[in-house]
Amino acid sequence: MPQVLINQKGFQRVRAGHPWVFRSDVVLKDPLPEPGSVVSVLGPGEKFLGQAFCNPRSQITLRMVSRSREPLDGEFWSKRIAASIARRGSPPPNGGVRLIHGESDGMPSVILDRYGDVLVFQTLSAGADRFKETFVDLFQKLLQPAAIVERNDPPVRDLEGLVRQKGIVAGNLPLPVLIQEGGFAFSVDPLEGQKTGLFLDQAENHLAAARYARGRVLDLFSYQGGFALAASQHAEEVLAVDSSAPALAALQDNLSRNGVKNVTSWEANGFDFLRECDERGEKFDAVLLDPPPFVRDRRNVGGAVRGYKEINLRAMKILKPGGVLVTCSCSQNFTPEMFEDTLREASRDTRREVQILERRGAAPDHPVLLTFPESNYLQCWILRIL
Ligand code: SAH
Repeated sequence: MPQVLINQKGFQRVRAGHPWVFRSDVVLKDPLPEPGSVVSVLGPGEKFLGQAFCNPRSQITLRMVSRSREPLDGEFWSKRIAASIARRGSPPPNGGVRLIHGESDGMPSVILDRYGDVLVFQTLSAGADRFKETFVDLFQKLLQPAAIVERNDPPVRDLEGLVRQKGIVAGNLPLPVLIQEGGFAFSVDPLEGQKTGLFLDQAENHLAAARYARGRVLDLFSYQGGFALAASQHAEEVLAVDSSAPALAALQDNLSRNGVKNVTSWEANGFDFLRECDERGEKFDAVLLDPPPFVRDRRNVGGAVRGYKEINLRAMKILKPGGVLVTCSCSQNFTPEMFEDTLREASRDTRREVQILERRGAAPDHPVLLTFPESNYLQCWILRIL
């Protein structure tokens, strides 16, 4: 097996439990192996630190897989996958659940979501992608799904030198796939929907937000209505806004499927929509803000801060006194501290006092690894605007 030497800084990170080593911390002793190879990672003094996926083309050059010398064969992966599934307990068979959450489950850059009896997976690094067939065989064996869908079309694959691809790799896909969440049926399109079809990380936040819904509610960046449907139970009316026509078409299907009558949808750019509401003096009792990630790159944090500040400031302005703002950020490079600072600035500019009622994150099937701050990518805070 090829060996890769890392410097003191990389060594300390790995020893502290971080699963990534950046290119700048790799000491080029031998020519680096080809993308996707499994390598032995050595620290200063050639001390063995574990095994990693290596991709010399990626800024994230090493992704730690194991701290032992155990071969990464079918048996190894079978144990890892089975353990990850077992940690989810017994989720309802007709629901949506993330069964493998990448590094947090010891499977770097591997995602596995289950929607009813359909599995959707992603292998987002060269190392993970090399084991794709092994994984698919094990998913079959361990879960016997009706279908397995590959959603390897996110742009992060470009950074690994991998092609973007998607398709049904096993079984027949019964469309629409229907799942239950919070007492509602939602349709999922694992091939065409965003991410793997739904935003499962927000599932529990939909229900939490609904507890504060009353009167007039705005669900901005609604996608297929995860927040809107949950909120409809307690609100008089919900307005769901998104810029994606297919997302809103799916939302309309979800409304009719569930006989929900008090949600209307509107196709618009979220920034423009908020500004126009503010200019018209429209008021809401609750606003749910769940924008797409604004920071895809660590170098663009400034632009993201402005984006988050603008939408949160406008949302605060259009809330009635005592109204509730459920505000989310899902950018890996936008830390909870940055989020808090941005909200503080927005509250200062609106001269409204703000109470923090709940600081929530992703649902527990998307676990945060304590030693991997990047896995704490989702914030969902519930605020009261006085
Ligand atoms: N709240 C949803 C997930 C939202 S994901 C849920 O819990 O299921 C972010 C959404 O923002 C996507 O549906 C995307 O279509 C939408 N979007 C992206 N850019 C937008 C923009 N500029 N204006 C309005 N919507 C936008």
